[in-house]
Amino acid sequence: MVRMITHLFFSFGVVAIALAPLHSWWLILPAAIVVFFTNFVIDLFGHEGGSRPRRTPLTHSIVYAPAWGIAVGVVFGFIMYIMTRGQMPIAMFSVLILCGVISSLSHLFSDSLTEGGIYVSTEHNENTRWRLASYKYDNSMLNLGLIALGLGLLYLAYLIRR
Ligand SMILES: [Zn+2]
Repeated sequence: MVRMITHLFFSFGVVAIALAPLHSWWLILPAAIVVFFTNFVIDLFGHEGGSRPRRTPLTHSIVYAPAWGIAVGVVFGFIMYIMTRGQMPIAMFSVLILCGVISSLSHLFSDSLTEGGIYVSTEHNENTRWRLASYKYDNSMLNLGLIALGLGLLYLAYLIRR
């Protein structure tokens, strides 16, 4: 895990780019909520305690992580559907699910740059762990770099959208 704040900025930047072609400002809030809960849920269940937290394939594998993203998108979709008394367009469900999946994949990308790595299958062993780089999760360069990248993507999304 990189720091939670890093996950949020980076995921939100990637989601903003993905949604930019829709040219819809009001999507920002629901998208941000899905980004938050997807990253939160993945790290809540994905890191077993102790001084050296480890990840489990249940949340940090390329198989299961998107499933959590889909679940968050569906649950939040239903909440919005009820809150809008059924006025929410059904297409919103797919947008929210897309946000969840993108959040989960960008979460895995960020974690794949740390020494803990991520899982490429659902098996919990060294052979299935995979990483692009081996920074410590709290490495400032890594965290600030990803936050800067997230902000850059946000700005780019702003330019596309306006
Ligand atoms: Zn994580």
